[in-house]
Amino acid sequence: MTTLDSSLTTGPVPLVDLGVQRDRVAGEVAEGFARVLATTAFIGGPDVGAFEEEFAAATGRVHCVGVGNGTDALEFALRACGIGAGDGVALPANTFVASAEAVLRAGARPVPVDVDDEHLLLDPAALEAVAGEVRAVLPVHLFGQMAPMAEIADVAARHGLVVVEDAAQAQGATHRGVPMGGWGSAAGTSFYPGKNLGAFGDAGAVTTDDDGIARTVRLLANHGSEVKYQHPVLGFNSRLDTLQAVVLRAKLRRLAEWNAERAAAAQRYAVLLDGVPGVRLPGVAPGNEHVWHLYVVRVPARDAVLADLNAAGIGAGVHYPVPVHLTGALAPGGHAAGDFPVAERAAGEILSLPIYPGITAAQQERVAAVLTGAVARRG
Ligand SMILES: *Cc1c(COP(=O)(O)O)cnc(C)c1O
Repeated sequence: MTTLDSSLTTGPVPLVDLGVQRDRVAGEVAEGFARVLATTAFIGGPDVGAFEEEFAAATGRVHCVGVGNGTDALEFALRACGIGAGDGVALPANTFVASAEAVLRAGARPVPVDVDDEHLLLDPAALEAVAGEVRAVLPVHLFGQMAPMAEIADVAARHGLVVVEDAAQAQGATHRGVPMGGWGSAAGTSFYPGKNLGAFGDAGAVTTDDDGIARTVRLLANHGSEVKYQHPVLGFNSRLDTLQAVVLRAKLRRLAEWNAERAAAAQRYAVLLDGVPGVRLPGVAPGNEHVWHLYVVRVPARDAVLADLNAAGIGAGVHYPVPVHLTGALAPGGHAAGDFPVAERAAGEILSLPIYPGITAAQQERVAAVLTGAVARRG
């Protein structure tokens, strides 16, 4: 039911409110935590394996290997696909820095490419242009919709590139009906609390159909060991925490319903902001089911508009203000402003509006009203 409580129409609206999700799983999580505490099986245990099976099934993959966070998931997936020292890995210039960190930590070299102006997703033509100098591509399923994977897979096949998907923002999304991990050799995803499927702390996973990749990821995440005290390869400590697995199992059961709530909220913004001069609404790319991790509009005078929204108690944000090739972390890549014009222009215009399961119509009406006023004043 729509709430028309005046505190909601005038009060603050956070960018994300995780309390709604927390409350909806509270009973199940309490039972699960009690079960783990009773057995003191704090590492591993049945909930980790059960979650891995359930997430693999939900994404249509043979394997899911839980790890400590999304960045590790991407690094391990790249390593398990044989990507390492000297290998170029193409990735979109406008992603979260973790995509590039994973490439660097695998020992490889990030090769940023530009994105399409309409959806801000990796541009297959830009990939084609660098295909001769890379061994792999890391498409990012940004803001809740998948990169144009059919075209990317085609470029990759023609040039013999490994495809590892960054699916941190896309749990539940599909392209031509195929979810994350179904287009590449593997996908890495993040269960950071604010993601569509979020834990109560850090967590991540790799999904794949390949037995060898799954086995190598499991080795890397557990000190290079399959048999206790045998370490054939150098690994890391990056296991999926048992208590987080309990949370993720409870939330996975509700993911489709929560993604539907996000889609309904996105639709409501589209109606509320339809025709507002200066506000460019996000589009859904062909073949995509979008799960609206973020609702990203583009506006003129973005920083002034953002300041007005924040001053009115609306937790709008920017994902991300600096494209990865212009961050200090990627300075060794030698890129300069102007190298990826679409990503760079977008970085100055994008504005993420509050969206999450449980956001009310009244809250969205308030966001739309404040945004409309701010753009009229500042634009
Ligand atoms: C969140 C995120 C990651 C990293 O996940 P962590 O769990 O925070 O390590 C990687 N890529 C993208 C696109 C993300 O949004």
